[in-house]
Amino acid sequence: MYSSKRRGKGAMARYTGRGDGGPHADLPHLLAQALASGRPEAAGFEVFYQPIVRFTDGATVAVEALARWTSPVAGPVHPDVFVSVAERTGLVAAIDDFVLDQACTDAAALAMLYGRPIDMHVNVSAVRLGQAGLEESVAGALARTGLPPSRLVLEITETSRIKDLALAADVATRLRAHGVRIALDDFGSGFNALAQLHSLPVDIVKLDATLTDVDIAPDRVEALCRSVLAICTDLDIVVVAEGIETPSRAHALATVGCPLGQGYLFGQPGPLHRLQRPVIPAQHRPPSSAAHLAS
Ligand code: C2E
Ligand code: MG
Ligand code: MG
Ligand code: MG
Repeated sequence: MYSSKRRGKGAMARYTGRGDGGPHADLPHLLAQALASGRPEAAGFEVFYQPIVRFTDGATVAVEALARWTSPVAGPVHPDVFVSVAERTGLVAAIDDFVLDQACTDAAALAMLYGRPIDMHVNVSAVRLGQAGLEESVAGALARTGLPPSRLVLEITETSRIKDLALAADVATRLRAHGVRIALDDFGSGFNALAQLHSLPVDIVKLDATLTDVDIAPDRVEALCRSVLAICTDLDIVVVAEGIETPSRAHALATVGCPLGQGYLFGQPGPLHRLQRPVIPAQHRPPSSAAHLAS
């Protein structure tokens, strides 16, 4: 099942098995070592990109940068696991900053690949909103790489861990003053989604796949999506549906007027050199009746 939000204690319990660091219960130590060098890429970190696609014509309008780590000792570790460990051990800023810098650097090559400028989505752990240095990291990455701020979208992940909405709103406001946009990641997977929408200055909402599982209850999903889309349209918020794996889900979301989607149907996350312009078979496209609803 698609869900990136089963972390915390669960992630620790998943220390055995593929992609979880294997028998290496000292993952926190390995992670600290990998990040202590200040050169995460030399310790097995890299950045993958996944396209975000416009339903009406299949055009890639953005990519999301996703951290990957193959520990020289423990092998490949799943992002849910190492991000969770990093959040608990105070190391998530080092990962986020590495990805941010690499993504801003790669944005120019991606624009070449797709033949036009595209938006770059980078994940920022909500845990970081209460810490110093985030604003400096963002401004620094933009200045170093020359990426126009309007092209950068910061996806706030683990929003359930936002304890102080007023503080988060303040940080988001200051980041937006730099010209970047803010997205709420995995919207609808937590209990306080509407409160966050109400309190935070948000440009983009990423609908969690668990909310749009049309294979479970199509009528309810349709009603729910229509409502969320109506609220977001009123608030001038753009909606991206996550975890689109099947043509039926793409079709359903496009039909209710969701403009953008991301998921294996359109492209798996991959390294820069393996990205291609997605070619969407005609039967995956939404009906033309939905075209007027998309931006
Ligand atoms: P996310 O930000 O919601 O990222 C989307 C996740 O869904 C990615 O998992 C992606 O590979 C996966 N995905 C995309 N399309 C599909 C699909 O159609 N089906 C299924 N089943 N999955 C799909 P990934 O890369 O394993 O990342 C998991 C989570 O780890 C991310 O969820 C994000 O919360 C976190 N993460 C990844 N990179 C970073 C980072 O640089 N910083 C921070 N703070 N968190 C990160
Ligand atoms: Mg994300
Ligand atoms: Mg997400
Ligand atoms: Mg999600």
